[in-house]
Amino acid sequence: MRDSRDRAAQLMVRGGEQFDDGLALPDQRTVVSLRRMNSVLDINLGRRMVRVQAGAKLSDIDRRLGAHGLGLPIVGDHRDITAGGFASVGGVSSASHKYGLFIDQIVDLEYVDPDGRIGTCGRNHHTERFHRILGAGGRAGIITALTLDAVDIDKDRTWLTTDADRFLDFDSFIEHAYAEISKPGNAALQVGRWVDTAPLKVSRPVGAGQVQLGTVRFGQWSSLYPTTPTRSLRARREVGTRTRKSLGAIASAASGKAGMPVRNAAAGALMFAPKVLTLRDAEYLADTVISSSERGPAYRVGIFAPLANYTSVFYRLHDLFDGHRERTGCFTVISAMTYGVRSKYLQAQAAARELPADDHALITFTCRLRPSGLPSELLRDIVSGVEEICASEHALRYESAD
Ligand SMILES: Cc1cc2nc3c(=O)[nH]c(=O)nc-3n(C[C@H](O)[C@H](O)[C@H](O)COP(=O)(O)OP(=O)(O)OC[C@H]3O[C@@H](n4cnc5c(N)ncnc54)[C@H](O)[C@@H]3O)c2cc1C
Repeated sequence: MRDSRDRAAQLMVRGGEQFDDGLALPDQRTVVSLRRMNSVLDINLGRRMVRVQAGAKLSDIDRRLGAHGLGLPIVGDHRDITAGGFASVGGVSSASHKYGLFIDQIVDLEYVDPDGRIGTCGRNHHTERFHRILGAGGRAGIITALTLDAVDIDKDRTWLTTDADRFLDFDSFIEHAYAEISKPGNAALQVGRWVDTAPLKVSRPVGAGQVQLGTVRFGQWSSLYPTTPTRSLRARREVGTRTRKSLGAIASAASGKAGMPVRNAAAGALMFAPKVLTLRDAEYLADTVISSSERGPAYRVGIFAPLANYTSVFYRLHDLFDGHRERTGCFTVISAMTYGVRSKYLQAQAAARELPADDHALITFTCRLRPSGLPSELLRDIVSGVEEICASEHALRYESAD
């Protein structure tokens, strides 16, 4: 950090081993990789805490905790995410309606600041610095070690059953999502997904009007509750897991237009999650199929909406993207994902802005781009539209670098 302080070129911090964002690194840029700082340093069973180096992968930490009947409450749905990388964005999961953000689970951390000084901060000491470093995307210093809260849970023996509700109209989907987020009951995980494809420019007369062909508008809300599995359900889970893994493998190999049906099937497999599965399977369900099926250029945005403004934020974001698609044809498929987020960290952020300390919900939109891409003036319009929605609805952007 000290060496790079006087250089004009920016210092880049990377948690894991992959430089997979497809960007060529400029020669003069310095990259600090935490790849080899990946140890689990200490597991404190009495206090249910784990101390790790920042480059440790969450999936590895969780496996080590599993041997003691403990687990991390919030892990990303991708196995290579590191503790430092997750802390530097915030960290959400479909268990966030219960446990909040990953950074709500951080007790303290060690860091190197931009001047090269080593320090520590935490929930109960140097709290201002603690909040400056968390979620800062590496701009406020490099996190080198963290102490995390763990919970009593056996993720391989906690079985969940999926209650899925499906919707063909957006209004009912949003109404249902709001009800589930507000009152999740004892759901261990929850997630809602909405998919809206671009209508084909072909229509045919039906009755007195015209129906546009080729539009798919579909939503699903899934709540996963703890259950005791029967032997036959366990067997079904085995078959389902194998099918999804193969679908994911085929989808990652299938490229171009010809591979589209397989990639769509892989994304569909995520919508139709198995009826019964373990908590560990459920947490990484998307990793099996979605990383391959979700490839391709897209505009993505994540927003934390206060629950009081949830439906309004959802409608306004949808109208913004749908309107741009109608007018310019810039997007093809527009999809959304949503769940509750009960986070002390977000509440503290709201309080700092003198806003009510409400619970939140995450709403993410992924808008697939046409091969022609997104012209910069259109991108500017979209970004300022999103900013206006956030400002007027007291919502916060989730800068997950995803
Ligand atoms: C396939 C995929 C699935 C994802 N799923 C989720 C999800 O379920 N939930 C979610 O919340 N996010 C998700 N994300 C986003 C992910 O959490 C962030 O991109 C996270 O920062 C990745 O961590 P990493 O260890 O891979 O870090 P990197 O990709 O290496 O770095 C990402 C950012 O973190 C900073 N950073 C990394 N390590 C440190 C450190 N030690 N100190 C300071 N800054 C650091 C970097 O500067 C950079 O800004 C996903 C991303 C992908 C690609």
